[in-house]
Amino acid sequence: MSFKPHGKHLVAGEWVATDATFRSEPAHGEAYDFFTGTVELVNRAAEAAEEAFWSYGYSTREQRAAFLEAIADEIEARGEAITEIGTSETGLPAGRLEGERGRTTGQLRLFASHIRKGDYLDRRHDEALPNRKPLARPDIRLIERPVGPVAVFGASNFPLAFSTAGGDTAAALAAGCPVVVKGHSAHPGTGEIVARAIHAAIVTLGLHPGVFSLIQGGRRDVGTGLVTHPLIKAVGFTGSLAGGRALFDLCAKRPEPIPFFGELGSVNPMFILPEAAGARGEAIAKGWAGSLTMGAGQFCTNPGIAVILEAQADAFAETARAALSETGPQVMLTDGIASAYRDGRDRIAAGSGVREVMTSTCDLRNATPYLFRVSAKDWISNHALSEEVFGPLGLIVTVEDAGEMIEVAKSFEGQLTATLHLDEADTELGRRLMPVLERKAGRVLANGYPTGVEVCDAMVHGGPYPASTNFGATSVGTLSIRRFLRPVSYQNMPQDLLPEDLR
Ligand code: NAP
Repeated sequence: MSFKPHGKHLVAGEWVATDATFRSEPAHGEAYDFFTGTVELVNRAAEAAEEAFWSYGYSTREQRAAFLEAIADEIEARGEAITEIGTSETGLPAGRLEGERGRTTGQLRLFASHIRKGDYLDRRHDEALPNRKPLARPDIRLIERPVGPVAVFGASNFPLAFSTAGGDTAAALAAGCPVVVKGHSAHPGTGEIVARAIHAAIVTLGLHPGVFSLIQGGRRDVGTGLVTHPLIKAVGFTGSLAGGRALFDLCAKRPEPIPFFGELGSVNPMFILPEAAGARGEAIAKGWAGSLTMGAGQFCTNPGIAVILEAQADAFAETARAALSETGPQVMLTDGIASAYRDGRDRIAAGSGVREVMTSTCDLRNATPYLFRVSAKDWISNHALSEEVFGPLGLIVTVEDAGEMIEVAKSFEGQLTATLHLDEADTELGRRLMPVLERKAGRVLANGYPTGVEVCDAMVHGGPYPASTNFGATSVGTLSIRRFLRPVSYQNMPQDLLPEDLR
């Protein structure tokens, strides 16, 4: 391996060792020791971030854009080494990590160009009306300002695009907020090499070193210490419902509660309307199988549930089964995620009325696809069947008629996505489903598959709880920068005292 991690934390420009270590658990290749994070390091990083805010929070948009671009350049300069350690730690194929690197650098550059334009600042101006009766109106201007130091918990399944220099970090830095990352224990070496890239950009541009710190995990109190630190003003999190909820509750219980932007799990239901199922059910079933098994099903947008008329379900299930059976075992991100997948399979299989369409053996860190089928009545009466199974597991929910399909739609909790497969003759049913789906999901798709989230201006990757802990936000796309800003009004303020972007 060309890159050998030293295992240290990056705290305000210094690489720091601690007393204890934990060992990485790569899918293949060499394991390394990493120093365990401590609350003392969290304190140091948060204090340095606060100190950095006094310069970085007031930097120009051009300075921050140049920083984001420099990080992208430094990541590219380490491209091969990042892919090498990333594939070893996560088991994801090299092609996937190369694509994800492009997505990460593309995201940094997109955010740079977005803040250069300045529209995200939502500048407003109500001019003074000195002669207004009965009361004169003062001059009032509004602009979005950065909130302060932000804590980031990266995703296990996107070791680049949603981790150390991923979406949350890029959004916070674009907004003007220093970042403290809690490294994900599934890819500490990938985290370290990306932190080195960010550190190099900080040094080149002469920024305050507290603008970015990475503290490796290994202990739960690193994460809890970070979200409860009084100097941390917001949290970006991608992970499980249980972990996210625990950290969200801690944020709410603080003496000064702070926003917790958690992107959690989702089952991403797919509704296959009758005409579409009749005309091209086979193609939809094959497409579904492909989307379900992509990346061993380890996508938060994995379409785990397909809803279809009972009368059309046999053919659909058979085609999906045949397509899924062509997928062999795929290595999962961690032993823990593989074991949770098997538990999830057992939970679904034990549900009343659930029929196995396809099972296989799934051992150690490998995942093989599973396919189950259940009637809408049994599904609606058992909440456990609507919970996410993180991995390549599909559940077909069969409905008697259009009315029951709408009942199923209404029974879902908040989702990242909901998908309609429909043809022209399905339009009326589609119209009846839309008001329900739009209340349930952050993104509603037609005739496609939700895996593959475009990073752009119009993207929403979020949704009502439990898809996310904040329905007003997205963690993908340029709108994600808004999470780390807050509006401030300036009343009758002399020009010289206004933020530069308002003058
Ligand atoms: P996870 O177990 O929740 O871990 C996420 C991070 O939170 C890790 O850094 C973990 O620390 C930390 N953490 C978890 N529970 C904690 C607690 N009680 N106290 C302090 N820190 C805690 O999730 P995961 O296994 O990495 O990822 C799989 C899940 O993520 C799936 O459910 C999937 O749907 C979801 N996901 C969602 C999205 C999305 O965009 N919505 C994207 C990808 C994945 P350690 O590293 O020490 O364990």
